[in-house]
Amino acid sequence: MISDYLRKGTESRKDGTYYPSDIGGCMRKLWYSYTKGAEPDMGKLTSIQLGRMMHGFLADVINSEKTDIRMVKPRVAIMEKFEGITVEGDVQAMIISYEGREYVMGVRATKWLDGVRRPDRIHSMQMNLYMHATGVPRAMIAYIEKSTLKTKTFTVKYVPEKAMLALKRFKKLHDCIIRDELPSPEAKQGNEKWQCSYCDYVSECARDAH
Ligand code: SF4
Repeated sequence: MISDYLRKGTESRKDGTYYPSDIGGCMRKLWYSYTKGAEPDMGKLTSIQLGRMMHGFLADVINSEKTDIRMVKPRVAIMEKFEGITVEGDVQAMIISYEGREYVMGVRATKWLDGVRRPDRIHSMQMNLYMHATGVPRAMIAYIEKSTLKTKTFTVKYVPEKAMLALKRFKKLHDCIIRDELPSPEAKQGNEKWQCSYCDYVSECARDAH
């Protein structure tokens, strides 16, 4: 019952339509996930659900009016068209108002808050895409520690080139999918080998080598 509930909303996508939250992940991993159609494992589904719960928690805190932040929009849905593809879906973000200015506020669950010293590169790219798509040129990310609910918040600068880079990455992924061309194993080749620890396609990736 719980796994059925968690799987809701993770159905495969229409051709040429991509999830905004996928940006920044290893290109090869994304290629497998869109072409192999494997269902996400329970670990990933649980992590998505935790993110949703943290989003709900933060929305409740803001709506309680015990902070100087005001809720403008509790949910954000992105729909961005770019060079024949569509980037579309609900994202873990809300729009808030603070000191008279609107911000896109992203929410992330983390195991260890002390280890979070700045916004993660991938999260920063996501927030730039969200700012571009919503037209709100300021953003914050709240990292919430799962075991304590302590929170750290960072502002994220809007850099239009980063939003464009995100859209271009989706286009590149799309081109690889329609040409049936396997992308390089970005995470292994770069500084983000940690992504491989959370990848459902480790054996396929090792088999396909370069
Ligand atoms: S194992 Fe690592 S490099 Fe290979 S697809 Fe997964 S994340 Fe990418």
